[in-house]
Amino acid sequence: LDLNLSTSRQHPSGCAFSVFLYRARLEVSTLTYWSAPIVWEGTFERSVLEDYYSKRKITIGLTVFAIGKYLDKYLKTFLTSADTFFMVGHKVIFYIMVDDPSKVPLIKLGPLRTFKLFQVTKESRWQDISMMRMKMIGELIESHIKYEVDFLFCMDVDQVFQGDYGLETLDESVAQLQAWFYNADKEDFTYERHPQSAAYIPYQQGDYYYHGAVFGGTPPRVLNLTKECYEGIRRDKEKNIEALWHDESNLNKYFFFNKPTKLLSPEYCWDYKIGRSADVKDVKLSWMPKEYEVVRSG
Ligand code: UDP
Ligand code: MN
Repeated sequence: LDLNLSTSRQHPSGCAFSVFLYRARLEVSTLTYWSAPIVWEGTFERSVLEDYYSKRKITIGLTVFAIGKYLDKYLKTFLTSADTFFMVGHKVIFYIMVDDPSKVPLIKLGPLRTFKLFQVTKESRWQDISMMRMKMIGELIESHIKYEVDFLFCMDVDQVFQGDYGLETLDESVAQLQAWFYNADKEDFTYERHPQSAAYIPYQQGDYYYHGAVFGGTPPRVLNLTKECYEGIRRDKEKNIEALWHDESNLNKYFFFNKPTKLLSPEYCWDYKIGRSADVKDVKLSWMPKEYEVVRSG
């Protein structure tokens, strides 16, 4: 084992599951200023993690919404690829929210995988479909998820798993670096800049630009996140305003005030439209091409 750097960290909560072991990668940043690891390919040793978690028999939840055209267009690819690459060898429960259960594709899942299907009503605006996820995930954590899983991820459906997405991503509160902005100047981050909005982050402030398409953590931490984000969304609606990037803007505000305990490199949610990047060694999840005219009409 060729380790340049090994860190063992104990959270204030006393939980031991954030103990991890990693190598540095010198060309990219692998630690935030508040000492949260930024997970890049090559910075972790999967066999060590497997050994650590093998004694704990963990279950990981994954929520995904597929409403309207997104159901036909993305759900099958998302689930099939997740079955192959998400937390291989561990128990996974997919929480699938759809507006039309009759359209859910028949997929044969691997032996350690189960799913729970929920019917939700379709909001008419795509922005509301996206934002209302915060409310629904919160309700689902309270009614089911908190009794059933140790860790939870919440993801957009318009993406496809390409490689092993494993234990290295687990932590108390996990945020995803948005692929287009991981190297950008803070001033260029597309945070909400109007002070009237609950999602407001002034220029000069903020840490990273996080992607709304992936977040996770332990159920209580994700519950807190979804409650706070939904509260921001609701307060803005009362004022008849809406943050620039909807739930993502509120998520960025949340993570600015509640620092995530782990960040995922853009390899964990890459957009091939960016082109080649030497930093990106191994793509684990990537954006699906979006035909905006198709999925966002009618
Ligand atoms: N979504 C959906 N139906 C819609 C709009 C959104 O199911 O009509 C869900 C879906 O999971 C999608 C997520 O909300 O991935 C966020 O929307 P979208 O992916 O369009 O946002 P973007 O990634 O473009 O910011
Ligand atoms: Mn998306």
